[in-house]
Amino acid sequence: MSSPVETTAQNLAADVRSGARSARAVLEEHLVVIESRDDEVHAFNLVLADEARASADAVDARVANGEDPGPLAGVPVALKDNLCTRGVPTTCSSRILEGWRPPYDATVVERLVAAGAVVVGKTNLDEFAMGSSTENSAFGATHNPLDLTKVPGGSSGGSAAAVAAGFAPLALGSDTGGSIRQPAALCGVVGVKPTYGAVSRYGLVAFASSLDQIGPFSRTVADSALVLEVIGGHDRRDSTSIHEPAPDLRSVLDRGVEGLRIGIIEELSGDGLEGIAGDVRARLHEAAAALEAAGATVATTSVPSTVYGLSAYYVVAPAEASSNLARYDGVRFGLRVDAPTSGDMHAATRTAGFGDEVKRRIMLGTYALSAGYYDAYYGKSQKVRTLLADDFARAYEEFDLLLSPTAPTTAFPIGEKTADPMTMYLNDVCTIPSNLAGHPSMSVPFGVGDDGMPIGVQVLAPATGEPTMFRAAAVLEASAPPGHPAVGGSVTGPTGGATA
Ligand code: GLN
Repeated sequence: MSSPVETTAQNLAADVRSGARSARAVLEEHLVVIESRDDEVHAFNLVLADEARASADAVDARVANGEDPGPLAGVPVALKDNLCTRGVPTTCSSRILEGWRPPYDATVVERLVAAGAVVVGKTNLDEFAMGSSTENSAFGATHNPLDLTKVPGGSSGGSAAAVAAGFAPLALGSDTGGSIRQPAALCGVVGVKPTYGAVSRYGLVAFASSLDQIGPFSRTVADSALVLEVIGGHDRRDSTSIHEPAPDLRSVLDRGVEGLRIGIIEELSGDGLEGIAGDVRARLHEAAAALEAAGATVATTSVPSTVYGLSAYYVVAPAEASSNLARYDGVRFGLRVDAPTSGDMHAATRTAGFGDEVKRRIMLGTYALSAGYYDAYYGKSQKVRTLLADDFARAYEEFDLLLSPTAPTTAFPIGEKTADPMTMYLNDVCTIPSNLAGHPSMSVPFGVGDDGMPIGVQVLAPATGEPTMFRAAAVLEASAPPGHPAVGGSVTGPTGGATA
């Protein structure tokens, strides 16, 4: 059985590149774990075993030929099912895309494959990435692999669960208001939302275009750094893509935080905000102390308009969604429910194809954009974004990085919040501000709560501040208290310590 570090993507790739292990053997090991547990976890909408075998064999053939397949050689990777894969169903966990096979790969998929990665499957999500628990899927909920009675978070819950369960060392998700960071926190893995424009969104099914970003899940900070180096950088097919190469992140990981100024966001750190659990606050303050012990200056600071983030987001995101989702009309994609007139056909298709949460967002968004209400809702929310950007700019004059919890609580029981959308929305209170500002932030596992389930600490940085953010993340990872035994500390192989 392999030792803990060998299960990281970096070490797997090193082994495959050197010929010490074959990509095929690495893949088969992971497929066994998927086979043994995905019935109960339901991380995947689709496992691509045959396709993965073919790509693993192709990687091995290149190694045999003396070629270098790339920095992710033979590393199994799981893709959120809102990332387009050529010829392979891409459902967004919605019935409305039934039968649709994209004619192209997302840029991130192309780049992963070009780096030698092996796509093992498409992961479950809240329909069209709308949700915080992966319960809003047309194909049923994903369960947290660390406690099957709990949610994995969402909307990228399938990707987070896949990494936590040892189905793949890497996964990609999308983050519009927290959908990478919150499930990463609830599953005890690392999750990163990059700077807006840092990673191409070509081939990501759009939810709210001014907020969406693609990013990695991994067990270690270094693995997420590696993925961002591979998928980041300019892409002419995404007009919002930054005209810069991907930053070098792995080379800064050992620089430490000596001399960095780090601010704990007062409004999100608990005392001022209802609903941040005591154990989450405790871990946050321990994380701050660890950064201080490593040489950073830490102080509490106010970023006042973060408290309006949630309200602004739930106008902006539904407004953009109502526009983005207009294209699912029964003609261009997937499902069609026939009816006598085209108008009736659109209505019948959308009625049958969309789930309740998606319908709620479309109605909220359409209302917010309607004549007479536009200024009061959408216009006002855009003003909040400006306020938030100004507040962050002020905070970053004094601090290099900011700190907050990732999620208000540890993973909650399946079914607990489905009846009350407002309670569900509150999960995103700490993660949304970075999306509204376009800034990077990431969740790093930092111990467990009173229930033994993982807690994540969120590191926030200004735009393109990923290198500094990763330095702090590496220090937090090194100083974190023991995590959940299946993902933190005592991992013994791809099956994970506790369940092996
Ligand atoms: N949970 C938030 C929502 O429901 C964020 C989703 C996301 O980031 N995709 O909108």
